[in-house]
Amino acid sequence: LTDEERDVLERIDREGIDFLRLQFTDILGTVKNVAVPADQAEKAFTEGIYFDGSSIEGFVRIQESDMRLKPDASTFAVLPWRGTSARLICDVIDTSTGEPFQGDPRAVLQDALDRAESMGYEVNAAPEPEFFLFEEDEEGKATTNTNDAGGYFDVAPKDLASDVRRDIIYGLEEMGFDIEASHHEVAEGQHEINFEYDDALSTADNVATFRTVVRAIAAQHDLHATFMPKPIAEVNGSGMHVHFSLFEDGENAFHDEDDEFNLSEAAKQFTAGILNHAPALAAVTNPTVNSYKRLVPGYEAPVYVAWSDRNRSALIRKPAARVPAASRIEARFPDPSCNPYLAFAVLIHAGLDGMENDLDCPDPIRENIYEFDEQKREEYGIETLPTNLGEAVDALETDETVYDALGPHVGPKFVEAKRAEFADYLVDVSEWELDRYLEKF
Ligand code: GLN
Ligand code: MG
Ligand code: MG
Ligand code: MG
Repeated sequence: LTDEERDVLERIDREGIDFLRLQFTDILGTVKNVAVPADQAEKAFTEGIYFDGSSIEGFVRIQESDMRLKPDASTFAVLPWRGTSARLICDVIDTSTGEPFQGDPRAVLQDALDRAESMGYEVNAAPEPEFFLFEEDEEGKATTNTNDAGGYFDVAPKDLASDVRRDIIYGLEEMGFDIEASHHEVAEGQHEINFEYDDALSTADNVATFRTVVRAIAAQHDLHATFMPKPIAEVNGSGMHVHFSLFEDGENAFHDEDDEFNLSEAAKQFTAGILNHAPALAAVTNPTVNSYKRLVPGYEAPVYVAWSDRNRSALIRKPAARVPAASRIEARFPDPSCNPYLAFAVLIHAGLDGMENDLDCPDPIRENIYEFDEQKREEYGIETLPTNLGEAVDALETDETVYDALGPHVGPKFVEAKRAEFADYLVDVSEWELDRYLEKF
């Protein structure tokens, strides 16, 4: 046992933990867990816990279904809404080889981080997940009725949800999160909680945990929290902006004192890599049919493949930084329905690709691109993101860098799952169609 593992065993004892939830995610980003009695902890660390992976989305074929969970001791956290249970995030091990299972999204992200490390870099990431709180109906089903009439940065009593948000933050802090800020977002019932940056793997773990905590604590207040990107038409959707920086020997490799934007060549090439692969990246960072209803002009979500040091209509923004360590780029297109492990993995690979190929970064666009007409966009050479999931998956399949970033197991499974999702959507007859055509024709 490592020291960290021994510490976990001690805490289990001291804090009277009865159950351990061994957590991992499927390729769609859904958190799964296997619960074991806490007295299995030592065995979990030494031998791992075996489970049947055949029914986990995208994992394995039936005939080769045995998987082993290897808990990461650094992720031990007591679940605040269930005082005697704790969770451990696990790597999934393929029992036939003893190696990390390539269908485990955490392993896909680890591969991206290994590539960065081989180039001399550590990757930091910080997300800004947004979500809606909706009322439940009498049967406890989610509605789209918001429980407040607040707007951007509003305070109580307009922001009735500030109590829920406070409880969510207490819960997250108990689980070890450093919360930077939280506020009411632009739309009624919409909120944002920002947490401190960390290495990209911990941050992806944190996003998975975050979604679970927010939903559980909202439910205690009889509210449904949703990370669906665009639950209500014609108001802002929910994004999950992600800030990235690379560190080299403890120094921020994205900072350059002498540059007009305080961005280093590395930061610009990383940006260029993301812009270059944006259409394919979208399939992973914006992986639902609904994601593309957020990526339309006019709602502070990006549509255009460009970067800016000012406006928020661009795909990537350079936020103002107070200190050199804080120089970073902000990818504004991801949304909180993504699998954070896969989304970070493809973004990092695209960025590193830009660095390896010394890609030239275009000039920043300082005007509001929402107001450009097509001709002006052509003049500036600004492309648009895919307009639907089908186009995004097409782009993913033809972009080797991004497709390969998912690895040989997840790539084909992801494409297959998303093609099926889009095909399903295409044959559906929606409310909109009935409203528009039923009586007219
Ligand atoms: N909700 C917006 C989005 O979809 C972001 C709004 C903001 O953070 N200013 O990305
Ligand atoms: Mg924000
Ligand atoms: Mg926001
Ligand atoms: Mg932001």
